[in-house]
Amino acid sequence: MAKSQFVDFKAVKAAITMEQVLGHYGLMDKFKRGTDSLNGPCPIHKGSNPTQFRVSVSKNIWNCFSECKHGGNVLDFIAEMEDVTIHAAALKAIEWFKLDAEEMSAKSNKEDAGETEVAPAPKPAAKRPATSVVATTEKSVPNTPLKFRLDKLEREHPYLMQERGLSLETIVDFGIGFCAKGMMADRIAIPIHNAKGEVVAYAGRFPVEEPPESTPKYKLPQGFRKSQELFNLDRAIRESGPLFIVEGFFDCMKLHQHGCKKAVALMGSTLSATQEELIRQHTDSRSQVIIMLDENDAGRAGREDIACRLSRFCFVKVYEFPQPDMEPEHLSAEEVRLVMEGLR
Ligand SMILES: [Zn+2]
Repeated sequence: MAKSQFVDFKAVKAAITMEQVLGHYGLMDKFKRGTDSLNGPCPIHKGSNPTQFRVSVSKNIWNCFSECKHGGNVLDFIAEMEDVTIHAAALKAIEWFKLDAEEMSAKSNKEDAGETEVAPAPKPAAKRPATSVVATTEKSVPNTPLKFRLDKLEREHPYLMQERGLSLETIVDFGIGFCAKGMMADRIAIPIHNAKGEVVAYAGRFPVEEPPESTPKYKLPQGFRKSQELFNLDRAIRESGPLFIVEGFFDCMKLHQHGCKKAVALMGSTLSATQEELIRQHTDSRSQVIIMLDENDAGRAGREDIACRLSRFCFVKVYEFPQPDMEPEHLSAEEVRLVMEGLR
């Protein structure tokens, strides 16, 4: 990422506690609680003495009395643990604790410059590849709804309208758009809702068909478990007719645009146990489910497995494309209409 993100360190520091950060690293069971302190072995130099590292809860600072012989605030701690700059540490904290990216960014006007620490761009070594859509681990823990919304998204972005062929209506309907700053900066932000319709994450699509090497096409917030959600399920369950299961966000949005509104995306080519349960909850033995995955090896393997599992409780049909490498997104409005008519 070429552009630097300006972070208000004070706001980030005020928003998180040392206890949360230790919890994030899974260290709290090693720590003992005092009146205003947390005491444990130093996670930075990986010591074993249970009193060498002390956190002042009220001051929200830490100190290592052993090898490190120094201390600091929450961001200093993350920076030490991750071996990154304070700026990169602040960005990590924003992602990990789902902080309001807008609120945590430094104001660019002069009045605020005096009291805002403006950070330089992160050093390249600080960058870790973002979680790819494919490589998220499965854990049966629900995602927490976000307390913020990314606003000021640029709707009429050429990547969405020209490259992906989405209408402004579809773009607004799905609440997507180009994000200039914040956690999904320089990406197309796509809100993901749970079945109740609460936003649980934003996915970030790099707005170029083939991103440069080492830049993932999709970025998901750290800690977000895509296996717990089906994209667009909250709205699909309000529609009648057969339920379409596709792989990607854009497959789903494109079908929707062409009038096939009862569609959900797996965000991959496999069905997690939770996703299977979600479909079970919203179907019965008379419901029709159309599996329409990409016409490639992963899609073909996925649809066989999914058809087998879902046919135990609903009526399943597998859609096969006539040409290799075709995807639901490639279907024209007319083709979608014919597919839907064929199902009546
Ligand atoms: Zn230490």
